[in-house]
Amino acid sequence: MTFYSPWRHLPSIFRKGRPIQLTFFVTRDCNAKCPWCFYLRSADGMDAGGVELSLDEIRKISRSLGRLLWVAFSGGEVFLRDDLVEISGAFHDQNRPSVLLFPTNGLLPERVHDQTEEILKRCPNSVIVVKVSIDGVGASHDVLRGSPGGFEKAMETHRLLGELAGDYVNLELGINTVFCSDNQDRMAEIIDFVGGLETAGTHTISAVRGNLIEQRYKNIDIEKYRHAADRLETNLRSGATGVHRFTGSRLKAAQDILQRRLIHRTLSEDRRLVPCYSGRLSLVLSESGEVYPCEILKSSFGNLRDFGHDMRKLLRSERARAAIRPITEGACHCTHECNFINNILFNPRLYPALIKEWFKLNGLRPAPQAPPPSPETASCRPSTRANSAGP
Ligand code: SF4
Repeated sequence: MTFYSPWRHLPSIFRKGRPIQLTFFVTRDCNAKCPWCFYLRSADGMDAGGVELSLDEIRKISRSLGRLLWVAFSGGEVFLRDDLVEISGAFHDQNRPSVLLFPTNGLLPERVHDQTEEILKRCPNSVIVVKVSIDGVGASHDVLRGSPGGFEKAMETHRLLGELAGDYVNLELGINTVFCSDNQDRMAEIIDFVGGLETAGTHTISAVRGNLIEQRYKNIDIEKYRHAADRLETNLRSGATGVHRFTGSRLKAAQDILQRRLIHRTLSEDRRLVPCYSGRLSLVLSESGEVYPCEILKSSFGNLRDFGHDMRKLLRSERARAAIRPITEGACHCTHECNFINNILFNPRLYPALIKEWFKLNGLRPAPQAPPPSPETASCRPSTRANSAGP
């Protein structure tokens, strides 16, 4: 099987002229009630109304996007969208992404299993990453997410997906944990539990974000975040949790390690440490066609329905150009992991640090070299404001 190569996007290291990553909120429907949801429980949620884009509209939008490195679906619960397989197929055929990412709360094991299998068959040249959310072990997960029986269902989903992983080489299984005030004291337990699973796949943590209605979930202890990051790194090095299956997987694992360190420093120093390529390399699309530079900022570039579903036309508009300007000038900062991925992988000034981690993961020692620049010195333009322009 031939996968779409990620290396086709190397020119974006030097020229940030077109998007290579899309986050697409396919639906606002959800069968969970997570109190820290930055999308459905945000005090200033993006695009709270509007009819969902139809499959035909999505096909047109996808056609206007060109080649993409990865597409992250989001919501809501993405597997509640009935035409998810067709949507995935449109992006697979027209944008040739190396990775299609599907997060799920895992509350519908059979549905997630069946749709994933269809997607695996329909999109053979992309790596299909499915991440099940686990925010606690047992009842603590259910309490946190307001979903009685949710942990058992999520584990059943994970088990069923694990069976598929044996049959499809393009499936990559993962678990994601939201790091928030209410589970930060149980992170060691969660990380070790996931590390002990037979088919754990990768394990990532996401620091709670957004302008939540219940802000208290954001009262996180930075040192507890660092302990969790260290524990994940230890499990990764010991092989308890896996690395990705796709081309460049160890590079991605090295990036994960560097990313968590940068996020810890961003939280500690409350400022941006590296340039952000949101709006240039990555875009966010809502279920009703609004386009944003990222999930945090609420200044929309416009709605694709007003631009004939043509992303290129929308990005050429004065409104879109004006919205990107403050981002390139460093006016905001955040800890959103998806953006850190692009901001690390496409920033050559971080490569010495990245290569050092890559060598360590391969059990090799890098040749003696000058110390890599700290992320701080790698920043082209330090933030001009203490607080994020986002929520
Ligand atoms: S809030 Fe600013 S730093 Fe964070 S992803 Fe958006 S543009 Fe980038």
